[in-house]
Amino acid sequence: MQKKKQLYEGKAKKVYETDNPDLLIQEFKDDATAFDATKRGTIKTKGIINNKISKILFELLESKGIETHFVKQLDDRHMLIKRVEIIPLEVTMRNTVAGGMAKLLGIEEGLKLKEPVLEYHYKDDSLHDPLINNYHAKALKLVTDEELDFIEKKSFEINNILKAFFDRKDLDLIDFKLEFGRHKGKILLADEISPDTCRFWDKKTREKLDKDRFRRDLGRIEEAYQEVLRRVTS
Ligand code: 5GP
Repeated sequence: MQKKKQLYEGKAKKVYETDNPDLLIQEFKDDATAFDATKRGTIKTKGIINNKISKILFELLESKGIETHFVKQLDDRHMLIKRVEIIPLEVTMRNTVAGGMAKLLGIEEGLKLKEPVLEYHYKDDSLHDPLINNYHAKALKLVTDEELDFIEKKSFEINNILKAFFDRKDLDLIDFKLEFGRHKGKILLADEISPDTCRFWDKKTREKLDKDRFRRDLGRIEEAYQEVLRRVTS
């Protein structure tokens, strides 16, 4: 499958058309941004690692009945995906308090939540992806009632599958962000699942093995991404 016209370039990925109008190619870049792209950098081989990790996690989720946009991995940096209309709603699932939730509510990072917390953010850079609730999502006509029910149910299922998977890899899945899209009347999990979009802490040492190493200048960024890949494939 060949790349045709570039459809879109985001902060971490590019998307291309193919000969087949239903299929697109997603390319994973090494570019990293944080804090509304005010911080920019490159994480060497990140694109290759995130492509591999996303492939493995999409296949895992598909095997457990979650429909995703993933079709197949093409090469190091490219993945064939189904064309979806991205719903501009970011779903954040949290198992442990960190990042945005710690800041918003003045809670210390690291507090384990009794039940996962689901958050919606309106995907709009100019508004800084504001936290919204289900009423806002419907008022903005981002989703219908049925779509939102489906997305909520799937997000909890995805959390259960991923939490159990990473637990077996001695990684604590702290939180992560999901994006969904519409494809031929169905809602598919889209985007990527990687150390760019998840927080992983080593179960024993609590070492951060994700994009927070870049956001917070913690060093050994490439090594952390490599380590997640190593554990995911072990
Ligand atoms: P927080 O709201 O605490 O900043 O992020 C919660 C989780 O969602 C983290 O795992 C973070 O990586 C992910 N996340 C939230 N928004 C974004 C985003 O715009 N881009 C990326 N790459 N990840 C995000």
